[in-house]
Amino acid sequence: MQIINTIDALESSILTVLNASAKIGLVPTMGALHDGHLSLINAAKKQCDFVICSIFVNPTQFNDQEDLQKYPRTVDSDLKLLETTACDLVFLPEVLEIYPHFPKNTNFIEINLSPLDHVMEGSARPGHFNGVANIVFRLFDIIKPHFAFFGQKDFQQVSIINLLIEKLNLPIELVALPTYREKSGLAMSSRNARLNQKQLQESTVIYKTLNYGKRIAPQLTPAATRVKMLELFNQSELALDYLEIVHPKTLVALSNDWVNGAVACIAAYCGEVRLIDNMVLFD
Ligand code: AMP
Repeated sequence: MQIINTIDALESSILTVLNASAKIGLVPTMGALHDGHLSLINAAKKQCDFVICSIFVNPTQFNDQEDLQKYPRTVDSDLKLLETTACDLVFLPEVLEIYPHFPKNTNFIEINLSPLDHVMEGSARPGHFNGVANIVFRLFDIIKPHFAFFGQKDFQQVSIINLLIEKLNLPIELVALPTYREKSGLAMSSRNARLNQKQLQESTVIYKTLNYGKRIAPQLTPAATRVKMLELFNQSELALDYLEIVHPKTLVALSNDWVNGAVACIAAYCGEVRLIDNMVLFD
């Protein structure tokens, strides 16, 4: 497994290693890797000849500086974990490699993500999806993958990247993969490392609420399902940011009628740690 820090070295490495027909798969991450990330890498290897995992804590997608500072950084153990996978190359750039004029000129594209960026993570974290779209575009531009692998855990992010690919007509296929969970049901997340044992237990209410919603959805409207889910969630210690049941493509909140693939999305704080999760309630 090669470990590469610069764009120049990455480009020459890709050129020397690969022939013209080889398929490149990219798995973009912010590190603090867990089994969810590794599942993306293993899925990528099944579909691609050469798998690149990027590790970059992208400052421009954090609207909260404290969240950025406290984001777990565990590069040494990440690299050890990646050695156990089919990853061929790790791209580990510094901030100035990605953004040469940081903190200026961090936008590479001007793209209208409306209305997908107006709801949920978009309204709770102003500027977040502009940062995401730009770093993903930058990585796509540097690496030129044929396939890019993302987790459905970040459901709205998948919608945003789909829109990016579509609007810019990029020759890249997005593959979205299921959420990996702890035995407790809690979605694996790099942020879970900041939770103590009690909080890890408390946070399972997110998964319980999503499952409850799935169970009651067939008998109720989306609006009534949401109310019941809120009642259950609000018995917990977590502070809710939002709970929405949305159309899987438009992300518009559903009220009276179900559509196939309707997704419930939750964001909540357990102590200072912000967690998100989602589940298809109706299919
Ligand atoms: P992150 O490092 O949190 O930016 O995540 C990098 C990629 O891994 C994103 O596409 C995430 O959606 C995906 N991911 C994060 N957590 C999980 C999980 N529990 N299961 C599957 N994929 C995940």
